[in-house]
Amino acid sequence: MFVHDPALTELVFDYCRERLALDPVPLDFPGEKGVLDAALAGAVAAGPHTAEQLLQLFETHMAPAVLSCDSPRFLAFIPAAPTKASLLFDMIVSASSLQGASWLEAAGAVAAENQALRVLSDLAGMPAGSGGCFVSGGSAGNLSALVVARDTARAKMGAAAPPRLRFALSDQAHSSLGNALRIIDVGALIVPTVDHRLTGDALRAALEADPDPASVIGVAATAGTTNAGIIDDLAGVAAVAADLDMWMHVDGAYGGAGMFSPLVRDRYKGIEHADSLIMDPHKWLFAPFDCAALIYKRPWLAKAVHTQDAAYLDVIHTGADSGQTPEEWNPSDYAFHLTRRARGLALWFSMALHGTDAYRDAITQVLETAWRAAATIEATPHLELVRPPELSVVMFRRLGWSAEDYDRWSSELLAGQIGFVTPSKWEGETIARFAFLHPDTSDEIVAEILATMA
Ligand SMILES: *Cc1c(COP(=O)(O)O)cnc(C)c1O
Repeated sequence: MFVHDPALTELVFDYCRERLALDPVPLDFPGEKGVLDAALAGAVAAGPHTAEQLLQLFETHMAPAVLSCDSPRFLAFIPAAPTKASLLFDMIVSASSLQGASWLEAAGAVAAENQALRVLSDLAGMPAGSGGCFVSGGSAGNLSALVVARDTARAKMGAAAPPRLRFALSDQAHSSLGNALRIIDVGALIVPTVDHRLTGDALRAALEADPDPASVIGVAATAGTTNAGIIDDLAGVAAVAADLDMWMHVDGAYGGAGMFSPLVRDRYKGIEHADSLIMDPHKWLFAPFDCAALIYKRPWLAKAVHTQDAAYLDVIHTGADSGQTPEEWNPSDYAFHLTRRARGLALWFSMALHGTDAYRDAITQVLETAWRAAATIEATPHLELVRPPELSVVMFRRLGWSAEDYDRWSSELLAGQIGFVTPSKWEGETIARFAFLHPDTSDEIVAEILATMA
């Protein structure tokens, strides 16, 4: 089992070579449980199978039943567009069993991951001492950050802490933030939005109208809502948070990457004040799954909360640590995890290889494609923009269509391998939504999809 098998290696590398060279990547299809169960029956048994049998099973039954989110025709939810370099380096991470829990075990990986995090912190304008770690996704990042916000507030309030703390956020915030608050038993103060945007004024007004504002320990703003790509009034929110000494968390899981583009950078003003920030490189920063950046302005606060104190771990926490910028950085200290894959290395390699200017250009190109699509929609009589896109999400309606029409259209589009576009909801209405992210999504693909709505 543990002996190198050159034939198996060739087989797997051949598959990887072919998959990496696919151009275009096929969208593929939804799966059916009965078919998949039948195909997989007996695959894991007491006895062995040949690698050929199993790769055949993968190629024939499994892979085609996984929609390729890296297809330029995948415009639903939030797609993915990992660079080839990042995918290849991820193979090195796997082949080398690279983990990244602590400095003691993985300094070489951690140092490079921290360099990548530094690029993102600098992009946001966060101070030199900021830092954190890469976690599995935005959900894990949001949860880890809110735990730090809660425990920091509790420590500060001491015995005066109200029995139940709350966090302010808008009803446009990502579902993972609501989940995180439920998990950590922190209540939500839902702030009414102004045209779906959380503003500093609305936050202040909600706090003034609230009977128990002292229990509100922080605010979560969004830098690019998932459904509509709206960036909250980060500067206004930051001013209120500073006035009231509240924690400011910014969820930039999808939209944070937009900071790379000069076309929209000024919309993020105020993000530099975030106490915690998340950005998902596995979304719009062209990294493979699963990779989310979690950055704290004062990482030592996170370290005080997340460090796992187990006797067998003491050795990784020794060394006089000022609590400011430790020489020996343990990613395990900055989120609710211990063992972790060095998942930031694929991003690090690709950014180092291509240079950050290439990221600026790719993100700008995607924005331009999205905005051209919006212009085409505006110019088409039977189509209507729901709102002008701020980032790379475009919401629009087909005049006269019901929810059933959108559903049928979406299924046919996928069955014909023309596109994967799922309907969304806006103010109760079913609408169509494009999420652009792949630099290879062309005007021609957009035109081909729009033509099916005639
Ligand atoms: C996608 C997303 C999340 C969740 O991130 P995962 O990586 O899917 O866990 C959180 N917030 C926003 C704004 C998102 O777009």
